[in-house]
Amino acid sequence: MALRDIHLLGSPALRARCAEIATVDDELRRLIDDLFETMDAAKGVGLAANQVGITRRVAVVGVEDDRFVMINPVITSAEGRVRAEEGCLSIPEVYGEVTRPERIVLEALDREGKPFRRELEGYLARAAQHEIDHLDGIIFLDHLSLLKRELLLRRWKKEHRGGELVRKVTPERDSRG
Ligand SMILES: [Zn+2]
Repeated sequence: MALRDIHLLGSPALRARCAEIATVDDELRRLIDDLFETMDAAKGVGLAANQVGITRRVAVVGVEDDRFVMINPVITSAEGRVRAEEGCLSIPEVYGEVTRPERIVLEALDREGKPFRRELEGYLARAAQHEIDHLDGIIFLDHLSLLKRELLLRRWKKEHRGGELVRKVTPERDSRG
């Protein structure tokens, strides 16, 4: 297992529509292990492959003890609407309130390539939706009003004067999503 560098806002990988995964093999499982390790080290609750520069449809989610990988994830139904604050490991120090469905049904493949279906709600549902957005090249700022988005982008530019497109993850870094 290895920590991967996390791509930051401005990296083209974050705007890619990631490719479906045809084969679940050992190489993919190594990537999944790295995603979990990198998410944990960065103190995130989710991490999508394109956030480490791999534009394939796989992401991990981990909220408290509930941790899972989703390969080729699809949301087959969604209901309710709830607004809550989100952050993103690719946009450190920037947080915004995002409205999303409260409950979803998720279908995906697990790390053995077996299909599974889960009903998610609460923060887990939010984290899964945030990560699936990533796989479609969408970031949480895209859900905000233009005014709010521009405000947060200005804040990001101020926080992020170096302009680098990736960051090294070290265990003491503290941010989310
Ligand atoms: Zn994110």
